[in-house]
Amino acid sequence: MTIMERTYLDNAATTPIAPEVVEAMLPYMREHFGNPSSIHAHGRRTRAAVEQARRTIAQLLNCSPGEIVFTSSGTEADNMALLCAVRDLGVQHVISSPTEHHAIEHTYQEIGRQGRAQVHLVRLDGEGRADLGHLEELLRKHSKALVSLMHANNEIGTRNDLQAVGELSRANGAVFHSDTVQTMGHYRFDLQQLPVDMITASAHKFHGPKGVGFLYLRSGLALKPMIQGGAQERNMRGGTENVIGIVGLAKAMELAYADLEAHQRHVQGLKQHMIDRLRAEVPDVGFNGDIGPDALYTVLNVRFPDDGRAEMLIYNLDIEGISVSGGSACSSGSNTGSHVLGALYGDRPGANIRFSFSRYNTLAEVDRTVDILLQVLGIREGASVRNA
Ligand code: PLP
Repeated sequence: MTIMERTYLDNAATTPIAPEVVEAMLPYMREHFGNPSSIHAHGRRTRAAVEQARRTIAQLLNCSPGEIVFTSSGTEADNMALLCAVRDLGVQHVISSPTEHHAIEHTYQEIGRQGRAQVHLVRLDGEGRADLGHLEELLRKHSKALVSLMHANNEIGTRNDLQAVGELSRANGAVFHSDTVQTMGHYRFDLQQLPVDMITASAHKFHGPKGVGFLYLRSGLALKPMIQGGAQERNMRGGTENVIGIVGLAKAMELAYADLEAHQRHVQGLKQHMIDRLRAEVPDVGFNGDIGPDALYTVLNVRFPDDGRAEMLIYNLDIEGISVSGGSACSSGSNTGSHVLGALYGDRPGANIRFSFSRYNTLAEVDRTVDILLQVLGIREGASVRNA
């Protein structure tokens, strides 16, 4: 089976790059190679492309182009948001959660370890949503705060209510950052309306290239650069711009938002079909996080009963040509375990697998995946299953 014939259900890890995005990037690999900081024609050509990309993104998010800072990744944008806010805005308290992506979690842990601010973790409900009552309590107790709560969790798909978190943050004078890496390109954002100060994005999560993202920085927030060494990005990030990546990022945004509602319906349909079939056909199957209509429609985290065969699921799915990812609770002794599942469910038995979908997946792929799961779990006769 070639890589193109396999079924790819790991879109929360990364998505296939859209052919239109590749086409948009090619001229910047072939002929438009100038340094955007050069003043001659070669440089002016790529400068124009970078600034056009910035305008495209700003228009889609209803913000101003000057509020978009291109970065090398979602991770860099997350680091910049936290580290620079603590350093430059007099932040003394960081309020976040235990289920953030490591780009946030490891950064606030480092801030706490170095004594640059005190870190407070908001309580979560059983599905991983921030407890807004507890958030309010923390905000009332601690002034000069930065709140960083992700929009949707990359492992379990549970979404926080950005409007509500933002309103609470504003009402209490806190700066609000949200890691929107899993939702950018999948939901609409109106940054004139939404009370957020910073959000982060990464192109490869919505069919753009890897190694490029951005930080939206509300104008008036007096941050200084994290990376020194050049006046690029209006003095906000030193380093020659990743022109090819930035062009691809803007094209991927354009494509994502051109037909967002249709993609959303299609992908939600795939996810619901998988939920329905698993419920009907796999005894004692469970789901981690929220699986209701408010959850991130691209992610489904399934808990299979631990019957001795389940732990081989990912391996067997891989052999059968299906790429998914998994995670067990970190308290189970494995350092590769999921800190998200560990924080929410402790050491609960079962094999946890994340299926994540994109607009390129089909119902037939979902059916094939469920059929193979049934064989691998021994519920239905079929494929040769390795128990090694
Ligand atoms: N934040 C979240 C929620 C993510 O899912 C990811 C990617 O896995 C990142 C941040 C990091 O983005 P990048 O891969 O661009 O560094």
